[in-house]
Amino acid sequence: MPLIVQKFGGTSVATPEKIQSAARKAIRAQQEGNQVVVVVSAMGHETDHLIDLAKQINDEPPAREMDMLLSTGEQVSVALMAMAIHRFGYRAISLTGAQMGIRTDNSFTKARIKTISTERIRKLLDAGNIVIAAGFQGVDDDYNITTLGRGGSDTTAVALAAVLGADACEIYTDVDGVYTTDPRLLPEARQMDLISYDEMLELASLGASVMHNRSIEFAKKFGVPIRVRSSFSDAPGSMIVSLPESNTVPVSGAALTREEARITVQGVPDSPGMSYEIFRRLADRKITVDMIVQNIGMEDRADISFTIPNHELKEALRAIEEGVKVTGATGYTYDDAVAKVSVVGLGMANQTGVAEKMFSSLANAGINIQMITTSEIKISCLVQRSEATAALRAVHQAFSLHVKPADANQWRIGQSISGSQSASEIVDRLSKSNLEQLTLLDISLLGDQARVTLTGVPDTPGLAEKVFREVAEVGVFVDMIIQSCDGYLGETSISFTVPEEQMPLSLDVLGKTGYNFRKIGGSTDIAKLSVSGIGLRSHTSVAIAMFKALADEGINVLMINTSELRVNVVIEGKDGQRGLAALQKTFAGALV
Ligand code: ADP
Ligand code: ASP
Ligand code: MG
Repeated sequence: MPLIVQKFGGTSVATPEKIQSAARKAIRAQQEGNQVVVVVSAMGHETDHLIDLAKQINDEPPAREMDMLLSTGEQVSVALMAMAIHRFGYRAISLTGAQMGIRTDNSFTKARIKTISTERIRKLLDAGNIVIAAGFQGVDDDYNITTLGRGGSDTTAVALAAVLGADACEIYTDVDGVYTTDPRLLPEARQMDLISYDEMLELASLGASVMHNRSIEFAKKFGVPIRVRSSFSDAPGSMIVSLPESNTVPVSGAALTREEARITVQGVPDSPGMSYEIFRRLADRKITVDMIVQNIGMEDRADISFTIPNHELKEALRAIEEGVKVTGATGYTYDDAVAKVSVVGLGMANQTGVAEKMFSSLANAGINIQMITTSEIKISCLVQRSEATAALRAVHQAFSLHVKPADANQWRIGQSISGSQSASEIVDRLSKSNLEQLTLLDISLLGDQARVTLTGVPDTPGLAEKVFREVAEVGVFVDMIIQSCDGYLGETSISFTVPEEQMPLSLDVLGKTGYNFRKIGGSTDIAKLSVSGIGLRSHTSVAIAMFKALADEGINVLMINTSELRVNVVIEGKDGQRGLAALQKTFAGALV
């Protein structure tokens, strides 16, 4: 008998009437001949209320007690959902995370799923029950209740669909599907018929809260097709599968992380191991670091800037204070009023001029870019929080995201999932004993790249645009771009990589621009090391382990960029092979 997992988010179970309406959907699916597992979130804003309540008692509540508290929200809604189904004359049984055997690690408030025992759920389904599963929660080896992080019910649903081998996984929510950006921020956002795992994973981790990013890691690893649809209509919704919506457009979606904070550690001695000393202290606290940018050193010292979620700032600054002491850095600054706007698209990997278009749209809107990082399928810019929505609107418009691509793909039920590596192939090699374990697919070394660095760039709106327009116009294929935030004297620096043979051309056009850079430099003597996998950014440990492996070898990291798919570091060319060997050794156990 086919098995279907349906997940209802907070708004979809906010009132008794809505619970009844969700119950009817589950009953209908069962009557259509499916076994049905329903995953439920806490009612409405219950989780927010519980957090608020805790903060009234203790503004830094112990994480274990927080999970004890937060898990109650879902316990209420599963019981009510089961009661609703009984009331309609059908069989249902509710289960907490512990009761259905969702084992997690013990990182309270952001626990990762290790194993799920399907035995009890299967028995209950075979006996004709609709199984109502509490989302967002699990239990560690000592029977402590854990939660998976905000929005984690999506992950419960997709994980259950994966281990039960479900035929469908439906995410019922308060919008009609996945849009090109948050439709509540931009009414001109367009609903997409389908979006690829890679793009959704990236968008989710860059702020598209419609799906919990870790749920997409599961979906990709285990090949679970997801349908996101409205609880309040019968519209077909959007499919998240391996296929992108279009094979030609460079950008398929945009996202905003409003509550971001920027930290700059100043005057870090420019020697191997320093970045590691700083970032490992953040990783120990499970703080997700993004947009890591290192200024090219002055007087043998460098500034390292990065962003973190604003709510983790306090904790992060404690880590940084330690890091500054240990490394002998000169100090740190931070800005808690910044936001990150990003565009994502598989198509940008092989097109030129995409970054330039993003920068020019922001420049035309008069928005200053404080930091830039790019990776194969995303570009992120840090802007002032007060300009966040304007920035999102500018980039959405620039890439015409409101217009359906002419070559839009169609998804048909039963269509096979294809990709560079088929899902089942990966699953076969994955350990079932640690479902959310780090999954690496490849470690490689690229030697034919060059680095171009502009120092002393005046920090004014539009400069990044001008730089990248000049190089795009002569057909240079720009890969990694990083622009630091305010450095010395209101100046920034911009570094990017290009194919080795295009370096002279790049230096030439930039030299002729007449812009007031202090220095234009470049080096062909670089190597790019790249670790690819699934969900790498949420596994903060990857970048950290790379820093450590390279530091132990005495290798200096010149540039780094991170995405959910890949972490790249640029090092000196002479260190390439040694660096590769070090990474292969470090990650031997995580390669599937
Ligand atoms: P649920 O409680 O059902 O899990 P969430 O609030 O977590 O619902 O997610 C749905 C919300 O996600 C929408 O109301 C919308 O505002 C927001 N959202 C952000 N980005 C997107 C996007 N790209 N597409 C659709 N919705 C988005
Ligand atoms: N109730 C939890 C939250 O609000 C989990 C979820 O809804 O997905 O974050
Ligand atoms: Mg959600």
